[in-house]
Amino acid sequence: MNTREEAVALDSADPLRTLRDQFALPAQTIYLDGNSLGVAPRAAAQRAQTVIAAEWGESLIRSWNSAGWFALPRRLGNKLAPLIGAGENEVVITDTISVNLFKLLSAAVNLQNERDPKRRVIVSERSNFPSDLYIAQGLMAQLDRGYELRLVDDPSELPTAIDEDVAVAMITQVNYRTGYMHDMAALTKHIHDKGALALWDLAHSAGAVPVDLNGSGADFAVGCTYKYLNGGPGSPAFAWVPKRHQNEIVQPLSGWWGHRAPFEMDPTYAPDTGIGRFLCGTQGIVSMSLVECGLDVFLQTDMQAIRRKSQALCDLFIELVESRCDAFPLTLVTPRDQAQRGSHVSFEHPEGYAVMQALIARGVIGDYREPHVLRFGFTPLYTRFVDVWDAVETLRDVLATESWRAPEFMTRGAVT
Ligand SMILES: *Cc1c(COP(=O)(O)O)cnc(C)c1O
Repeated sequence: MNTREEAVALDSADPLRTLRDQFALPAQTIYLDGNSLGVAPRAAAQRAQTVIAAEWGESLIRSWNSAGWFALPRRLGNKLAPLIGAGENEVVITDTISVNLFKLLSAAVNLQNERDPKRRVIVSERSNFPSDLYIAQGLMAQLDRGYELRLVDDPSELPTAIDEDVAVAMITQVNYRTGYMHDMAALTKHIHDKGALALWDLAHSAGAVPVDLNGSGADFAVGCTYKYLNGGPGSPAFAWVPKRHQNEIVQPLSGWWGHRAPFEMDPTYAPDTGIGRFLCGTQGIVSMSLVECGLDVFLQTDMQAIRRKSQALCDLFIELVESRCDAFPLTLVTPRDQAQRGSHVSFEHPEGYAVMQALIARGVIGDYREPHVLRFGFTPLYTRFVDVWDAVETLRDVLATESWRAPEFMTRGAVT
C-alpha cells in the first residue's frame, strides 16, 4: 500500500465498518490498546446510569431478584460462551483471571492427584504473563506436596516438556508480549496423549480470535472481559469448566456463592452442582452489569468475520512499518504466519519506552512491555484501516524527528 486513499477504500468495503459507531471513541485518538483495555461501548454509560440510579438507587436490595443481579455471573457466562466454543452452563463471569486460575489449577492438580499421584509437574512458559506463574508458585507452596513448575523458553519445547510426569499444562493461547498463538487443538491432543490436563488462559484470545474449547477437548479455561471483550476497567473475568468435569472437581475458594443453597445458611459447605460451584463470594454488580454491553456488540457479527479483519489489519501494519519505517531499528517479534498470531503486533526498538510515550503524546495509543517492546493491538470492531495508515505515519515522524528524546518521555508511570 502506497497511499492513504487505499486505506480509506478498504474501510469503505469493510463489512464491520458500522460497528465502530457503537463505541465511545475519544476524538483525535487512534486507539491501538484494546488488547489491554477495550474501548467503552456507547451503551455502557446508559447501562451504568440504570444500574446505579434505578436498580441500586430505587429498588435497592430487591434488585438481587428483580433486576437479576444474582443470576448475572451465569447469564452473562452463557452470553459469552459461543465466542469461545463453550456450551450452555459451562461459563461463569466472576472474580479475576488470577483468582480463577488459582481455583481451576488447584482443582486440576487435585483431580490428577486422585487419578495418578506420581504426576508432580505443572508445565508452562517462562514468557507467560507473570501473574499466571505467580499463582502456580503460590499454589505449589500451599500444597507442599513437592510439585515442580517446569517452564520452557520457546513454544517449540512444549511437546518434549509435556511428558508422563506432568499433571497439568497451563498454557496461555496468545502470548501477551509477542502475540504468538498456540494451536489449541493440536497442543491439547498432545497434552491428553501424555495423560495430562490442559488449562488454557484466553486473556488475549477471547473476542480476538475464534476459540473452540469443546471442539479442542480442552479441560479448563480462564480469561478476562476487559481486553477484547470491552467490559470496562477491572471488569470481572470468566472461568470455563466443561460439563464432564464440573461435578468431578471442587475448587478451594469454597465461598457461599458456590454453595448449592446459599440462602439456607447451612454451616457446612456443599458445592453447587454444575458451573455455580466455581463462584466464591458477592460480585461487583455495577462492573459486571457493563460486561453485557460489550458482549452485545459481538452478537451482531461473528468471530470468523472479526478474525478476517484482524488478520488484514495486522498484515497491513507489519507491511507499512517495514516499508515506511525501514530506516529505523524496529524488529518484528510477532510471527509473520497468520495462523501463529493473535490480534496484536509487537516490534522491538532499543528506546521502546520513550518511543511509545512520544506516540501517545501524538494521540496514537499503544503500550510498552519490557524489554523494549512496542505493542499495538488491533480490534476489528472499532479499528479502521486508515487508523493503521495514520498510526504508522505518526510512528515514522516520531522516529525521523527523534521527538521521543524529549525528557518527559523518559519518566515511567506506575502503569506502563
Ligand atoms: C491480562 C492478563 C492477566 C490479568 O490477570 P488479572 O488477574 O485479571 O489481573 C492474566 N493472565 C494473562 C495471560 C493476561 O494476559
